[in-house]
Amino acid sequence: MTDSSAARWRPETVAVAAGRPARVPDAPLNQPLVPAATYVGAPATDPTAIGYGRYGNPGWQALEQAIGDLEGGRCLTYGSGMAAGSAILDLFGPGTVVLRPAHCYLGVAAAMAQRVERHGWTVREADPADAEAFLAAARGADLIWLESPTNPMIEVADLAAIAAAREPGSTLVVDNTFATPLLQRPLELGADLVLHSATKIISGHSDALLGAVVAANSDDHDHYGRLEAGRRLGGAIPGSLETYLVLRGLRTLPVRLAAAQASAMILAGRLHDHPAVLRVRYPGLADDPGHARATAGMAGFGTLLSIELADAATADRFIDALGLWVFATSLGGVESMLERRRRWPGELPTVPPGLIRMSVGVEHVEDLWADLDQALAALD
Ligand SMILES: *Cc1c(COP(=O)(O)O)cnc(C)c1O
Repeated sequence: MTDSSAARWRPETVAVAAGRPARVPDAPLNQPLVPAATYVGAPATDPTAIGYGRYGNPGWQALEQAIGDLEGGRCLTYGSGMAAGSAILDLFGPGTVVLRPAHCYLGVAAAMAQRVERHGWTVREADPADAEAFLAAARGADLIWLESPTNPMIEVADLAAIAAAREPGSTLVVDNTFATPLLQRPLELGADLVLHSATKIISGHSDALLGAVVAANSDDHDHYGRLEAGRRLGGAIPGSLETYLVLRGLRTLPVRLAAAQASAMILAGRLHDHPAVLRVRYPGLADDPGHARATAGMAGFGTLLSIELADAATADRFIDALGLWVFATSLGGVESMLERRRRWPGELPTVPPGLIRMSVGVEHVEDLWADLDQALAALD
């Protein structure tokens, strides 16, 4: 597929049409699974030869084309979201100054903390929902890391304002896992790199771990080339089965997202009005602190919300009383899932003990609500 058709089509179409093999009579429509550790030797001068299983795979290339077209950049896939995130961090040397959201994916925060110890990094934290404060904290930073909406507080950053005003010498990375390229495309706003845990909504079926980095097309610092070299040597490559599963999942990303997002809005409203729920965090709600920014900057409010119940014990009793919702970490599957975040010892103390992160799937919304409603009623 050519860049011009990706640019002409709407994302719903790109998700279906990108990363297909050439239309040859009687050839498969889909990129077949290619479990190959090596390839028959080709002349050293052949620029299209892959050569070895750690250097490439037709299945990775198909998925990278599709995710790259959706984000508007050049994509590399990895064995997990953390492998992709670590590959980005590995671009930076000793003494790096990084700014990250005060709340962000715990694994990313831990990987940065490791580099403080080992490589003398400085990690600053700021609230990404306050663009002015975030930009002030970004002064002199080599690496600006954003996640929006954030895990698990569902805070919304003003990506456009931050991308426009940040210092040109810095590298801006946006973890776009929660929004997906259907809701926001950070590279169009001026980010350098986008990170995805494609394990989550892009894949959508809770059966594969996979990460992706997408580099901007205007890539003055050759992030793409340096990441590709790093992946060859670091070996954090995706599996062929995983890229196959994730590309299959990506084909239905727009319809899964639309269905889950519509249900999330309905459930957020009902939970908001329920007397047992202290607070609902969902940018679709008119009184949510992120509502105006999400309305201006995102094409939808997403499939993730968090609720707060009275305390940890109440939240655990509520989760135990559910029958349809699955108690599990992770998110973005067709199955609605939830967990109390503070059950993890590493979770930040600023996350309320009774906060439950909810990932809305594609079941019928009335069945999802009935399950929540009976579990809330059981708390009395
Ligand atoms: C899950 C997740 C990651 C890490 O991805 P894995 O595929 O689990 O390694 C990074 N960022 C966010 C926002 C996530 O939800």
